[in-house]
Amino acid sequence: MSVIIDGNKIAQDIRRSVREETLVFKEKTGIVPGLAVVLVGEDPASQVYVGRKAKACAEVGFLSREYKLPADTSEEELLRLINDLNHDQFIHGILVQLPLPRQIATDKIIAAIDPHKDVDGFNPYNVGGLVTGSPLFVPCTPRGIMELIARTGITLSGKDAVVVGRSNIVGKPIALLLLAQNATVTICHSKTKDLPAVTSRADVLIAAVGKARMITADMVKEGAVVIDVGVNRLDNGKLAGDVAFDEVAAKAGYITPVPGGVGPMTIAMLMKNTLDAAKMTR
Ligand code: NDP
Repeated sequence: MSVIIDGNKIAQDIRRSVREETLVFKEKTGIVPGLAVVLVGEDPASQVYVGRKAKACAEVGFLSREYKLPADTSEEELLRLINDLNHDQFIHGILVQLPLPRQIATDKIIAAIDPHKDVDGFNPYNVGGLVTGSPLFVPCTPRGIMELIARTGITLSGKDAVVVGRSNIVGKPIALLLLAQNATVTICHSKTKDLPAVTSRADVLIAAVGKARMITADMVKEGAVVIDVGVNRLDNGKLAGDVAFDEVAAKAGYITPVPGGVGPMTIAMLMKNTLDAAKMTR
């Protein structure tokens, strides 16, 4: 039976340490880290995420500002707001909640965020930095995953790591981070031939697909570290990851549950990135 990696507890530890560090930083510099969250439209899931981010900011002692814009906001209006926030001395991190409505080109908006305030790490400057090994910010979910792996105590150097999924927000950045730690990395996607043959070689297996329970025990190496990024809503309303938890937990060395694994780490890392952004202004 594997060790269950408790993302809730680890995320709580990180938020506590960010709160403590923020106190010291404020006392030393008089600067209060500030995060601006921009939401365009009324997507219910996005509203929930934005609310959670504001709550986390309050808990760690940050200034948080929410900008809730109507669904018919134009690209120009949003670009103007980003430009204002880029020059706002009280705001150190800018996060634009995705997805954006169709009339707005997401790439253009992300590229407009000052890389020094790009706490989501999606700006091309930071994406390039991730490739060359020196980003200002690492995207929150991949940064959280690396922290979860670090807490197992395993060394990544020389290990076979397999990432299933190649999105810009999870698959590709996590693959680059694993590579930076000297893992031998394979990235799989929907065109990969014989997925089980590849995944069952993995010492570290990251599932970031968005298909409930698609990673079954026969696809996992005995003793592997299995990180489940997927969040899938089942017909009965419950959440499930991309990994068939019970059967894989019986075979893996370490495994993250859903919920309570990767999910809570994302906001904890957003807090860490925002504090880092405030420190960069010094
Ligand atoms: P995307 O839909 O952008 O990417 C999914 C990836 O999975 C694609 O690269 C796709 O391949 C690949 N894929 C699809 N089907 C298969 C298959 N049968 N075999 C192998 N690969 C396949 O998803 P995201 O990366 O944005 O998110 C992945 C999951 O993680 C989702 O469930 C999402 O909700 C969750 N998530 C959770 C977060 C958290 O904080 N816990 C944060 C972000 C995401 P191809 O490129 O060929 O189409």
